Amino acid sequence: MASIFTKIINGDIPCYKIAEDDNNFAFLDINPNAKGHTLCIPKREVDKILDLEEASYLSLMAFSRKVGKAVESAIKCNRVGMMVVGLEVPHVHVHLIPLNSMKDATFQHKIAMTKEEFVSVADKIKSFL
Ligand code: AMP
Repeated sequence: MASIFTKIINGDIPCYKIAEDDNNFAFLDINPNAKGHTLCIPKREVDKILDLEEASYLSLMAFSRKVGKAVESAIKCNRVGMMVVGLEVPHVHVHLIPLNSMKDATFQHKIAMTKEEFVSVADKIKSFL
């Protein structure tokens, strides 16, 4: 069965899209650690990052770097952290998280955002791409 992220890529589930290229797709995390928390995923559904072919891995990392720089420009923060976990969704995803303290990196502390805030944050990140 298609992963929830494949359904997002296919447009079957809505998302706050940030960017895409031939191989990768970026959108806002729906349950963010911090404002601007973004996920970058390969379009081809693979569960674990270390199982990606080297070319796909490098493509995802280059794409994540580009999107991460836009997040860093759009969101006031100490730095943007890049993390790969994958315990919840079995489709490779790189978390790009604006960090101000270690708490923002723990996945224990979540923030609430309105639909309008998601749209505005997505638009701001996109304006730096
Ligand atoms: P993990 O697999 O533990 O690295 O985390 C999966 C991440 O996907 C979590 O941060 C979720 O909030 C996020 N997530 C799950 N479903 C959606 C969705 N429909 N749209 C955006 N983000 C999602």
